[in-house]
Amino acid sequence: MMKRVLVLAATTGYQTRSFGEAAERLGVELVYATDRCHLIEDPWQDQAIPIRFHDEDASVAAIVDVAKTKPFDGVVAVGDRPTVIAARVAQALGLPGHPPEAAVAARHKQLTRERLRAAGLLVPWFLPRAASDPAPHIPSFPCVVKPVALSGSRGVMRADDPASLDAAMQRLRALLRSPEVRAERNAAHETILVEGFIPGDEYAIEGLMHHGALHLLAIFDKPEPLDGPFFEETVYVTPSAAPPEVQDRIVAAIDAAAKAIGLHHGAIHAECRVNQQGVFVLEVAARPIGGLCARVLRFFDAASRSASAPCEADGALARTLEELLLMHALGEDPGAWRRERDASGVMMIPIPRRGILRGVDGVEEARRVTGIDDVRITAKPDQLLIPLPEGASYLGFLFARAASAGQVCEALAAAHARLVFAIDPELPVLSAAQIHYNLQHG
Ligand code: ADP
Repeated sequence: MMKRVLVLAATTGYQTRSFGEAAERLGVELVYATDRCHLIEDPWQDQAIPIRFHDEDASVAAIVDVAKTKPFDGVVAVGDRPTVIAARVAQALGLPGHPPEAAVAARHKQLTRERLRAAGLLVPWFLPRAASDPAPHIPSFPCVVKPVALSGSRGVMRADDPASLDAAMQRLRALLRSPEVRAERNAAHETILVEGFIPGDEYAIEGLMHHGALHLLAIFDKPEPLDGPFFEETVYVTPSAAPPEVQDRIVAAIDAAAKAIGLHHGAIHAECRVNQQGVFVLEVAARPIGGLCARVLRFFDAASRSASAPCEADGALARTLEELLLMHALGEDPGAWRRERDASGVMMIPIPRRGILRGVDGVEEARRVTGIDDVRITAKPDQLLIPLPEGASYLGFLFARAASAGQVCEALAAAHARLVFAIDPELPVLSAAQIHYNLQHG
């Protein structure tokens, strides 16, 4: 019988489409559980189980109920918000997964810090504050102010002195009180974390926990400096140029951090910073790399590869990350899976300034740059673009593949330089409405 995997995801998203394609290639049936309006019956015609991310009990119950007639063979979570529900569903159905307490800690930056510190791992000093409280007295500057449960660097700000700390806390408070963040109904948004700034190089790690053991999928370098005041991620490139012993230390630290948090089975996406003191793990999320970025990864089965096997560059032989995640959710040991030999990278195209997107030129020119695989502009015409720290999106994504990571970075930079974004200032009437709203709602 066809195996069936439950995918918990936001209503829309590129990754849900990639999962659909992966399932088709593997001959697996997917059932989605998505956060959507109960009033409309199956508005996307995909027979997804309607759940509410903020109502975990009811969501778990709804899914377990469906499983009585449509049993699931595996569970996958996409994006940060459904990770705890996914963990609880896996536990309720007796499927391997991350323990719910671990998923809770992984989603909460303060709990993560506490777990890592208790395990004796390197952590900066950190002070949780109620969002309504004034700035704390802190041991040293610079520091970083952040929400405990948003993602994508949203609301994360560096402060170098008491005045900028006050300003950052006020700015974050306003974001946490915005209608959009309040709509998440997450009590964690009442807390602000202030912590020591960690200098150093930053890396992202993609991996799979397999019954408690970490299987590394990729280490990404983040070659663009991330020193604040905001921390917009732009380029991810793999393989890492870090010396092998540094890579080993990174993997060991992520492994220890995942175990300290209690993550056990399923995807992890981790971030760390490395300096002379060692490896500081910033977070280990209980989910895969987000959105379109996953397309940067392709895998081959090392066990079945031989000298006479067709060239790796033949994409048809490759497996996508989504295929791997589904195979893993169905019990396959990822031990034999290796990332392709070519270097690859993605640029998350940053929003240069706030305003209304009117159009993008140079897409075809960017596509023609040697090494560029794909150019995806995801922002829509007439969309209001909001940069970090308040914003939560990118203009789009550039993908590159080449023989070396350096060539990948050059291709991404050259393609980016060909893109011209027409961004108009916001209409004054809109700004006035927003000012009015802010006055009314504090
Ligand atoms: P998110 O989950 O939203 O990505 P993170 O806590 O990982 O939030 O922070 C986002 C980015 O901000 C990190 O990738 C890093 O570049 C920067 N950052 C966060 N905390 C620190 C810190 N203590 N010191 C230095 N940089 C930090």
